[in-house]
Amino acid sequence: MTSPVLDTLLTAKLQTLAQENGLRRLRGFRRNGLRLTDQSGRELIDFSSNDYLGLVQHPRLIAAAIDWTQRLGTGAAASRLVTGTYEKYREVEQRLAAFKGSEAALVLGSGFQANATVLPAVIELLQVQGPVRVFADRLNHASLHHGLAAAGLRQIRFRHNDLNHLESLLRKEATESGPRLIVTESVFSMDGDRCDLAALADLAERYGAITYVDEAHATGVLGPQGRGLTATIPGRIDIVMGTLGKALGGYGAYIAGSQTLIDYLVTRCSGFIYSTALPPAVFGALDAALDLVPQMEAERAHLHRQADRLRSALCAAGLATGRSDTQIVPVILGEAADTLAAQRQLEEAGFLGIAIRPPTVPAGQSRLRLSLSAAHREEDLDRLIAAITKLGRSS
Ligand code: PMP
Repeated sequence: MTSPVLDTLLTAKLQTLAQENGLRRLRGFRRNGLRLTDQSGRELIDFSSNDYLGLVQHPRLIAAAIDWTQRLGTGAAASRLVTGTYEKYREVEQRLAAFKGSEAALVLGSGFQANATVLPAVIELLQVQGPVRVFADRLNHASLHHGLAAAGLRQIRFRHNDLNHLESLLRKEATESGPRLIVTESVFSMDGDRCDLAALADLAERYGAITYVDEAHATGVLGPQGRGLTATIPGRIDIVMGTLGKALGGYGAYIAGSQTLIDYLVTRCSGFIYSTALPPAVFGALDAALDLVPQMEAERAHLHRQADRLRSALCAAGLATGRSDTQIVPVILGEAADTLAAQRQLEEAGFLGIAIRPPTVPAGQSRLRLSLSAAHREEDLDRLIAAITKLGRSS
């Protein structure tokens, strides 16, 4: 039974959140490819997930997940450092390192867990050389903020993707002693724009900064063979993080970097040490994804073509897509209430495009976050464009 004090506080808080349009509710779906069925039986085409290559129901991933489960079991039974590292897990990590073009790679429980716990471990290491200055993009994902906050550091935030601003901040701090760390994403999750990583690496070299780049939305989608944008500047980013639950169709996250970095994290990263290893099914699916993803050039080309087409159509309808130039295409509508109304209208037309509101995005920048998948057909997009264009006219 909930205590009366807790219950009163919860009820009052939920009422306030509801008045502010800030209450979030879980919905249950059934999935058949990109066709979702909601609880009321309504069919919606999914334009909201991160399954960018259409792999979550791929027969090869499913077969590998079943096979690994049958051979090894449903759980890993312990943390990686105890008995949770099956031999096959190490092989998959080596394959992941080869895919990322790094010396070594380590799989962690989730992207949130990786950012939240790898960053504090890295900062603990750097602190040996004096106070650490962390330069972070203002729109970095919540998990990156969480990791930096957990390290007890005040971030020096630069304007989103504004490397001139970053440089002016680096210059201002240049006379201070102690290590510097730059933290950013290669593709931003709510904007679908990219960081100019080559220019970022130049700055890092000039000012002697270490770099940490989150490739959650680039892995599998961008760069040579889908190896991410860091693969376009081999060896120039120190710590590369990415997730396995998006284009790779599974779950979990990785850190790619030098063998010494991975050895250190195995010994010092709390989120790795104190957490049960991912189940065999997850590693099996990853193994299968690593067979498929490098060869999915046609799917990637289709995905990017469709994203271009969607952006052009939205622009023509007078709708703002910000600086998106990837498979993530926001329709920036401004107010949270208008954006929620637009989501409902789209659902009536048979599409799921989720409204993203503060605090996930800054106030006044609520948006429908549309994300494309290589599995979307041209006619799916034609119909979405028709529905959205109507939205543009009625707003
Ligand atoms: N980083 C970024 C940029 C993300 O968008 C996300 C998830 N949306 C994460 C990290 C967290 O990854 P996970 O979902 O695997 O916890």
